[in-house]
Amino acid sequence: MVFSITRGNFVTHSTKKLEDKYLKQTKLGEGAVGTVFLSKHKETNDIRAIKYIPKSSIKHPERLKNEVSTLVSCDHPHIIKIFEIIEDRKNLYLIMEQCKGGELFDYILNNKTIQEAEAAMLFRQIMLAINYLHSKNIVHRDLKPENLMFSDGKTLKLIDFGIAKALKPNETMSTRAGTPFYMSPEILKGFYNISTDIWSAGVILYIMLCGYPPFYAESDAEVFKKVLIGNFSFRGHEWRQVSNRAKDLIRNMLIVNTDLRFTASQVLEHPWLQNLNPSVPFPLSAPDATTFTTSNLLRRVFLFCIASHTSEESFPQAKEAFLSLDQDMTGCLSIFSLQENLALQFSNENPDDLKKFVLAMDLNNNGKVEYTEFIAGALENTMFSKQEKVVQAFSVFDKQGKGKIVPEDLQRLFEKPNKKNLPFYQKIFKEANCINNAGISLEEFFAIVTANGVGS
Ligand code: ADP
Repeated sequence: MVFSITRGNFVTHSTKKLEDKYLKQTKLGEGAVGTVFLSKHKETNDIRAIKYIPKSSIKHPERLKNEVSTLVSCDHPHIIKIFEIIEDRKNLYLIMEQCKGGELFDYILNNKTIQEAEAAMLFRQIMLAINYLHSKNIVHRDLKPENLMFSDGKTLKLIDFGIAKALKPNETMSTRAGTPFYMSPEILKGFYNISTDIWSAGVILYIMLCGYPPFYAESDAEVFKKVLIGNFSFRGHEWRQVSNRAKDLIRNMLIVNTDLRFTASQVLEHPWLQNLNPSVPFPLSAPDATTFTTSNLLRRVFLFCIASHTSEESFPQAKEAFLSLDQDMTGCLSIFSLQENLALQFSNENPDDLKKFVLAMDLNNNGKVEYTEFIAGALENTMFSKQEKVVQAFSVFDKQGKGKIVPEDLQRLFEKPNKKNLPFYQKIFKEANCINNAGISLEEFFAIVTANGVGS
């Protein structure tokens, strides 16, 4: 049996009391559906942004379900991370990473325009997130500067998947959705596909460079008229400083005919967005990589869980290294290209050992290393001084608080429990020398992840 493991497996859904776990602090913002509060995890002191969604206000439960399932399925450095979902009688709480730096919207407003070099760096991040979504056939449908937030001074995250949709191959849509200035002509006509996001991204780029929208009018109806015609200009004085390359890219995005409009990968390949990917080395020494490679599957699954629940600021170099290695810009690394790149960095190492390391990272055996798989591989010896992180990961497996992890806990995370597949999980335990029926205690779990004991 092959088991599939993704970040989403570790996004827990529980009915615990939110106040027992998190300390509510300031209000961060308010949206159409919920209010977002800054909160502190009482045990780990992790700071989180928690979206409170009153159940009474949920008019479209299917939309919310869709928002949550889309977010849970995403694993990308430029897409907001969801860690946990808690539900009580009154509210649903989405526990997410905090974006400290505010909205791109306010950044543009405060600066009037963004200098071209910085705009290119930021816009590339936006397009990386879109290219990742589009490669999974997900359309966001509400791309705008209010839905792009700075997690730090220079990293943007795409938020608010309230009207995102996972499409079947060749599926088209007809619902009018989005925000007027950013809506594409085809959305207004009621027949569109994934390419609508490229139009909205083109509008964002235009605004970043000049500070006002390409299709502007006093009323929505007038805006829509202009969008449908699709004429815009670079006549304002702000455009005098802007390069022809940037204008050329906008022209290729704001094309009414979707057959002629660029795709996300064409945007990323445009000359204006080249040479913006700094080369960052993989943050692990060869001996640490060997420890990871020789670890049994159980330990690697535990590390993956820790990586899933850790804020990015704990591993800044790993994030940058992942982006630097993502040369085809799809948001996941092919085994082959990762192996080749590591061979360049670790030129003294045996290529077979590097191959084994990369294969060990690919936990779900799909021939690609996803973002969290990569982080788990780079975690070795970096953060286990933070014991609370390990306790937190332990509780993801030990959902009922029994104080031990048994094969059934692993099975529950990866599939609907059924007796037939249980031996598979028992085998994973056995291979990790955990054949004791009492299960894995917290101490043993700690010893396993720190590679100091059982099963390492
Ligand atoms: P809604 O889906 O209800 O429209 P949003 O997801 O857009 O809500 O969030 C509302 C506001 O809360 C955002 O505009 C932003 O200012 C703030 N916000 C949302 N997510 C975060 C986050 N992860 N970190 C910091 N602030 C956030």
